[in-house]
Amino acid sequence: MDIKHIKDTRCPICNSEVDDESIRSKHTNGEWNEYRKFRCGYRLHFSPNFMRVDIIGTCSKDPKVMEMYKKRDEAMSKLLKYISKLDIDDKFKETLTNRNNTGTY
Ligand SMILES: [Zn+2]
Repeated sequence: MDIKHIKDTRCPICNSEVDDESIRSKHTNGEWNEYRKFRCGYRLHFSPNFMRVDIIGTCSKDPKVMEMYKKRDEAMSKLLKYISKLDIDDKFKETLTNRNNTGTY
């Protein structure tokens, strides 16, 4: 079975090649969910429910994404520095700075 709704065969941002693709879960309208992933992380999904292609993964080489991660890193550095100066016990500082609490960013 071939992907028929996702037309991009290269990442439109960095020209990366297709890394993986799949077709899953047939909709009652007879169309399938289509997924295509590119080497850079850019991912597309065709939804038969909405009959449209959505971007579900960002290109790691996208300047906007790189800027977003840079700002997140700067914010996290400021936050960790702020926490380190708080007048609280070290155990609670560890709790606040535990990556499981701050989440993946
Ligand atoms: Zn890309």
